[in-house]
Formats: sequence, C-alpha cells, structure tokens
Amino acid sequence: MRDDCIFCRIVRQEAHGDIVYQDEEITAFRDINPKAPVHILIVPNRHIPGVFALQPGDESVVGRLFLVARQLAEQEGIAQSGYRLVLNSGPQGGQSVYHLHLHLLGGRPMRWPPG
Ligand code: 5GP
Ligand code: ZN
Repeated sequence: MRDDCIFCRIVRQEAHGDIVYQDEEITAFRDINPKAPVHILIVPNRHIPGVFALQPGDESVVGRLFLVARQLAEQEGIAQSGYRLVLNSGPQGGQSVYHLHLHLLGGRPMRWPPG
C-alpha cells in the first residue's frame, strides 16, 4: 500500500471512490471521468504499479481482474450487448495512474482502433 497512490487510498476507503465491488484481493469503482455510460476500474488491492511490474505468482490476481470484470458486466447489464476491457501500460500506452487497473467500458458502441 502506498500513501501517495490514489487507488491504494480508494481501496482502503481513505479517499472517496464509488466502489461497486470489493473482496480481500480486488476492488472495483467507477471512473471519475467516465468515457462511456459504464466505466469501471478493477484493481488489485495490493499496489502493483503496472503490467511491467508483474511477477511470477501474480497469475491468480490478474486472472481475477477478468473474472470480476465479467461479473460486473453482467450486473451492469452490458454482458449481452458487449463491452471493452482496456489495460494501459506505460507512457505511450496511455497509463496515467501507476496502480494496475483494468477498465471495463460499455453501454455504447466502441470504435476501433482507439484514438
Ligand atoms: P489510465 O490512463 O492510467 O489507464 O487510467 C486512469 C483512470 O483513472 C482514468 O480513466 C481516470 O479518469 C481515472 N482516475 C484518476 N483519478 C481518479 C480518482 O481519483 N478516482 C477515480 N474514481 N478515478 C480516477
Ligand atoms: Zn496503489
């Protein structure tokens, strides 16, 4: 846990976050600047800076990010219409918060490729 990391602070509920799911390993909350009608960030509770920092042993928590995404897509009513999962890594990947997070985006058609 990093005191200077906004997502660590949301996980610990020290900073406000619209949390839609939480367990001992994973937290999911609505993006503060949504790019789609449904825009949820799914994060490991443990501070992992990004994909570039993943280690052997992290397979389970990474897999669970996707399982929680699938469950939330069903809860949000976008499982049938479809949705996009995005994971940005590093400066040119568009990562702005250096705590690993999976974006769940849906509720409108998604363009490809992204801008
Ligand atoms: P990235 O660009 O790193 O892939 O995505 C970071 C996301 O975090 C952005 O979509 C941004 O809107 C969101 N974000 C940044 N700060 C906060 C915050 O304090 N609260 C919430 N809920 N989302 C945030
Ligand atoms: Zn963090």
